[in-house]
Order: sequence, then structure tokens, then C-alpha cells
Amino acid sequence: METIPTLLDQSENARSVNDWKALEEISIKIFQTIQKGSLPEEDSLKKIVQNYLSSIVGTGEFLTQLSQGNLEQYQVGLNKLLDFLGQKPHRFNSIDSVVHAAREISLLALEPIPANRNKIGKYLREIARPDISIIICKQILDKTRLNYYSLTVLCGAYCDLGEFDKAIAAADIALKFQADSGRTFSLNALVRAHTLKFKSTGDFSEIEKALAYGHESIDLKLDIYAANAFIAAAIASMDERQIVFAREILEKAEPQLKTPDISAIIQAYKTAQALAPTAEVVEVFDEFDSKGNLGGFNSLIELVHRDEGFKPEIQDLRKMKIRFSEDSWFLQGLSNIPCPKCGTIALHSYRKHFKRYGKDMHYWALVCDFCKTASDSIDYDKKEFTFISSNLEETFPVADLCNVCNGIPY
Ligand SMILES: [Zn+2]
Ligand SMILES: [Zn+2]
Repeated sequence: METIPTLLDQSENARSVNDWKALEEISIKIFQTIQKGSLPEEDSLKKIVQNYLSSIVGTGEFLTQLSQGNLEQYQVGLNKLLDFLGQKPHRFNSIDSVVHAAREISLLALEPIPANRNKIGKYLREIARPDISIIICKQILDKTRLNYYSLTVLCGAYCDLGEFDKAIAAADIALKFQADSGRTFSLNALVRAHTLKFKSTGDFSEIEKALAYGHESIDLKLDIYAANAFIAAAIASMDERQIVFAREILEKAEPQLKTPDISAIIQAYKTAQALAPTAEVVEVFDEFDSKGNLGGFNSLIELVHRDEGFKPEIQDLRKMKIRFSEDSWFLQGLSNIPCPKCGTIALHSYRKHFKRYGKDMHYWALVCDFCKTASDSIDYDKKEFTFISSNLEETFPVADLCNVCNGIPY
């Protein structure tokens, strides 16, 4: 029997000539090999899942020629994959976003309005079909020339294919015609595209452009997206001053991170860069759907209401209201340290898993039963918060409690 690496080589060959039928057959062979007990590395598994999904998208008529093509066939293929992943629980969460993208494509394709087609374009990149993504973006741009969502997705898709000049051209148009509030999207896209072009060509003027756009984006609006794009550029530049600045930016953009977290993140980036100098280490967050699943299952508000019987007061700051309305929060426990505001031992800590820069982390929400408030860690004095958080961590280690960390599906 062929080994997984051999089969992966065959997959690459099938891919290079767009032989989707062969790619599907090889991918299924790999799944059968896995079923017999040989689990691949995390990165390989991601690739295998992407290959399979790419193969069932095939020539993609069901996405590009709306009256034609067979969406049902794609859905049948997707269900096969979901069945397979369902029987063989694995603990690799890097494939979650790929599987999520594949599901979204099947749902969005049912209602092919332009907004949904834009999202399909974005998700196609996730399953390694930037070629189809480009076709869709161009179709939308034929009708609405300055659709900046399409233009930034197009920029990313060209980057995936290593066509950096086309990528930069698309983001340049988006930047030129965008209203002020939206400019950061295209600036961040330009930071990524120029960083990648620098890594591919070694041309220093590219990384200078990337850093300049990065500074512009941060000046306009400092958030995790701007910080994320900038850090990758700073580390690629290997310029210590830019890396120091990147640290400061990260501290401001993600104030819930502790100093060791930040050092670990910067180190992780450096390692990724050293290991794969030309590979993309720019993690792309979804800037357009950052609201998450509003009103989802186990939102903080719902949990507090259910467990503690009141609706906590939340300040309209730092997107706390939105974050606390998202799903998948869980109770960490009651802190032995009294609430700094009312002096009572009544602080309950709730956490929510998230992943940044390849690192698993957890948001904070501290709920005081007496003050009837909920707030994140920034509301507390740094020293007070360190007391509270280390006490909680000692009594209720979050990694033991978090379902995501333990590979348990919700
Ligand atoms: Zn209190
Ligand atoms: Zn976790």
C-alpha cells in the first residue's frame, strides 16, 4: 500500500494539471489509509482535507455559472468528509477553519446574492481554490467596479497564487476609492501583499512599502488586524526597531495578552519565518465578519443569567458588548480574591477560547455578583488583576476546563 507522503506527491501532480477526478480518488485513498490507523501530521491533514475539498469543487461551475453546475454533488461530497471526520476524532484544530469554510460555501451557494458570492470567494481561498475565487471576484467587479470587499479578496487570492503584482494592483484600486473608514482593509491587504512579494523576491523596496502601509494603517485604526499584518512585515524585515514597535502595537491591540504571551507570539513568528522563509506566515483574520456569532449558544450574558440570575451591566467599551454576546463562553470559577470595587468575594471568572498567531488563548470576563457588572481584564488595575488571574489559574487551570483546548466539540 502506498504511504501518505507518496499519495500526497500524487495529489500535487493531479493538482498541477487540474485533474480533479484523480485528486478526489487519491484523497479518498488517503482517508482510507488514515482509517486503517496511520494518522498524518497536522499540516499534512490540513493539506489532505484541502485537496479533497478542492477536488469536489472541481471546475466549480456551480459557483461561477449560477444556472449551471451541480451544487448537490458538492454537498454530497462534503457530507462524506464530515462523516469521515466524525468517526475519527482527531485533535487537530487547524482543519476547523477549512471545514467551516467548506460548509459556508455550501450554504452561501444556495442564495447567490453578491454579498454571499464575495464570501464564497473568501472561503474558496481557505480550501485552496484561489483560482475560482478570482473568477468570482472578477464577475462581481464587472458589475460593481469598486467593490472593496471583492478587491481585497482578489488581492489575497492572487497572493495565494504568487501573483503579487496583480494582488497589489487590486488592493491599490481598493485603497484609492475607499472611504476613510474602510481604508484599513485595503492597507492591511497591501501590507500582506508587499511582505509576501519581499519574501518571494528579496527586493527590499517591497518590505519598505509593506512597513509604510502598516504604519499608515495603524495610525488610522489600531486593531488586531492592523497589528497582525504589521507584525508579519516587521519580522520579515528583521529590523529590530520595527520588531520592538510591533511588540508595542500588539500590547495595545490585544491588551488582554500578558507580556510572556507577547514574547511567545513574537518568537513563534520568528521561528515560522526561519523555518519557511518563503512560506506565508501571515495569518489572515476575517476582518469582515469579526462580529462572530451574535446571540450564540452560551454567550456570557446567557450564562450569567442562567447561573447567577441577573443581567450584568457592561460598559460600551473595547467591543465588550459584542464579545460577551458571542457564543462558547464557559465558567472558570469563583476567585478567592475579593472584588476590588466592592470588597466582596463575589468575582466569577468566565473565559472564551480564541486563537491568535497560532497560539491558544482565552478571553476574560470577570463578573461580580455584588456589583452586578461584567468586564474584561483591562478594567482592573494591573497588579490587582495579576492577583486575581493567578489565583484563578492555580485553582481552576483554564486548559483543563476549556473544551476547545481538550478537543471536545461543542
Ligand atoms: Zn464587586
Ligand atoms: Zn481553550
